[in-house]
Amino acid sequence: MSKTLIISNRLPVSIKKEGDKLTFTPSTGGLATGLGSIYKTGSNLWIGWPGLYINKKEEKESITNSLQEENMLPVFLTEKEIKEFYEGFSNETLWPAFHYFNQYVVYEQALWEAYVRVNQKFANEVIKAAEPSDTVWVHDYQLLLLPQMVREKLPDISIGFFQHIPFPSYEAFRQLPWRRELLYGMLGADLLGFHTYDDMRHFLSAVNRLAGISYSQGEVIVDSRPVMVDAFPMGIDYDRYADAAALPETLEREKRYRSALGEQKLILSMDRLDYSKGIPQRLAAFELFLERHPEFKGEVSLLLIVVPSRDNVGMYKELKETIDEMVGRINGKYGRMNWMPIHYFYRSYPLEALSAFYRMANVALVTPMRDGMNLVCKEFIASKLDQKGVLILSEMAGSAKELSDAILINPNNINQVAEVIHQALVMPIDEQIKRNSVMQKSLKRYSIHHWVDIFMSQLAVIKEKQKALFTKKVDAATMKNLKAAYQSASHRLIFLDYDGTLMPFTDNPMLVCPDETLIALLKDLTANKKNKVVIISGRGKNVLEEWLGAFPVDLVAEHGGCYKEKGKDWEMVKKLKDDWKKDIGGWLKLYVDRTPGSFVENKEYSLVWHYRKVETGLGELRAREIISHLKHLSANENLQVVEGNMIVEVKRTEINKGRAASKWLKKNAHDFVLSIGDDFTDEDMFKMMPETAFTIKVGSAASEAKYSVKSPEEVRKMLRELITEN
Ligand code: UDP
Repeated sequence: MSKTLIISNRLPVSIKKEGDKLTFTPSTGGLATGLGSIYKTGSNLWIGWPGLYINKKEEKESITNSLQEENMLPVFLTEKEIKEFYEGFSNETLWPAFHYFNQYVVYEQALWEAYVRVNQKFANEVIKAAEPSDTVWVHDYQLLLLPQMVREKLPDISIGFFQHIPFPSYEAFRQLPWRRELLYGMLGADLLGFHTYDDMRHFLSAVNRLAGISYSQGEVIVDSRPVMVDAFPMGIDYDRYADAAALPETLEREKRYRSALGEQKLILSMDRLDYSKGIPQRLAAFELFLERHPEFKGEVSLLLIVVPSRDNVGMYKELKETIDEMVGRINGKYGRMNWMPIHYFYRSYPLEALSAFYRMANVALVTPMRDGMNLVCKEFIASKLDQKGVLILSEMAGSAKELSDAILINPNNINQVAEVIHQALVMPIDEQIKRNSVMQKSLKRYSIHHWVDIFMSQLAVIKEKQKALFTKKVDAATMKNLKAAYQSASHRLIFLDYDGTLMPFTDNPMLVCPDETLIALLKDLTANKKNKVVIISGRGKNVLEEWLGAFPVDLVAEHGGCYKEKGKDWEMVKKLKDDWKKDIGGWLKLYVDRTPGSFVENKEYSLVWHYRKVETGLGELRAREIISHLKHLSANENLQVVEGNMIVEVKRTEINKGRAASKWLKKNAHDFVLSIGDDFTDEDMFKMMPETAFTIKVGSAASEAKYSVKSPEEVRKMLRELITEN
């Protein structure tokens, strides 16, 4: 029976040590609740740090035993690891970098090394506990290297990764000296999830620019393994908040708080102590609001709840002092004997208290500078059983993408925030109900349970897709069949594409003349009189002649536009009119003018726009433009616009590799056919091959070919093995 392993920095339990006594309190956070349905069943497991430093061996054993009953496995960290990995690299490097607080990022090699070591420590536990058929779900920024570390030891295991904080734009991410290692670490996963489409597209852009891997429809190919990247906005346990808001204890609390406050309105601000939450800016906006709307003095208070967090980190201490100072100043300036502008609490509360706050608040002021998702705003909406109340939400929070019926603001715009506080306080009740009912409907549907289900099912989908591709790989058994068929044949026809099949791609397409290994291979392959070798390429005839003319091979250039049998002259497919080239060539030249690094190649039967050397992103954008532009122009001319590896080619539809190959199939008796190619133009060739042919695709994209291999290097190895007698 295969199982599921959840891995996160913290286990969903809080352990307290008083003297020699250990007490365990299960976490009731959203993630713990959502994943409860997974880790609590069967032999599934949650692996993570128990959240405190434990030194004694007996205590470690006792914790391990107690947690085992709850399907949890602790990873213990030393004091140094807690300092360097958790407080250091995770919270002083990655956290500020990913939240666009570049000025706070600590760049220290020693912290990075600790991060690598602790990720490896987690990975070792996973590797010990996991079987190849298991599913692993890794959570968040503390464990970015884990997917790859696990993949190395368990290459076929199913790995999902979810990042709970933002993924910054490439411009911010690339500042990190360890950016490549981090990316490759993450790419060990099969499915990478982010809260929003923007996070996902930032990640894909970083992969594209830093790892040189292009993507299509959220899919990237890493070592011929398709990896899916997608947005999964995390929801809340809706019923838990709706139910809590209806409990008699909650109503009782609300009554108590209300009698202390009187009839005045309440604005709720509730976050962990963190600079990403924008608390000082929020206080400034509240102060400005009081200044601009003095009629609200005595009528409204801000309930400011700040939950202690990371107070070992210097930056957080400073932030706490700033907030203390601002609250003191505003209360001192505006407060009256019978009214306090701000009720400030630096502590955390149980659910019943939070629920009472959510119920009481007329307005929730959620204005982070940057937040991966933000759950407080969702919980506020879910707690509004009468649908009355107004949510003011920062557009920098992931949740703003879903909650567009809130009042959305830019947290840096203090003027705007001050104004919308007023707007919220005077918003008509029917408008409040209208907005909240829309948001409630969506939050109910996209709950935390939905989030878990959809992530797990997408992980299964991508794994299935990989398996379907993997079955096509040339394995030992296929090789044996191939060799047997080869050896028993006496008229072998071998079609080989050149670029990307016999030779790897490089930045300069003119520098890929055959190397020594290839020359030796072609010599040996053609030395056997039973072999007829056809090099079938999209390149022009001159360059093929120069590089391969000396070998006893047949050559096909320009996807079949020109061809040459060994020892004979080049021939061309009957001369086709090429007036079209003037028009289309003119258009393509305009694109070259606008796109530094691109150029047009004029081939006998086609025009090719190359963008390999164009700035990443710009080339792809122009390629899209060209394709949609030329689609209309080419329709009347019997022309085809096709995309290749960093090229867009316009050519006559009569010419393709399939037609060219069929000429050889007709003309030459054959009892063994092998055809190898790597890109879409080779698909025409695969389609024309007889049923019994061995068709092999280089790379892992979907293909008409029966089998696949990873790289030109593998093609060479395979051909070498084929011709080696044994
Ligand atoms: N929360 C809590 N006790 C408190 C205040 C808040 O348990 O005293 C919870 C709150 O209900 C929410 C979470 O802390 O579920 C905060 O999540 P959010 O995504 O808003 O912010 P984060 O702290 O994860 O950045």
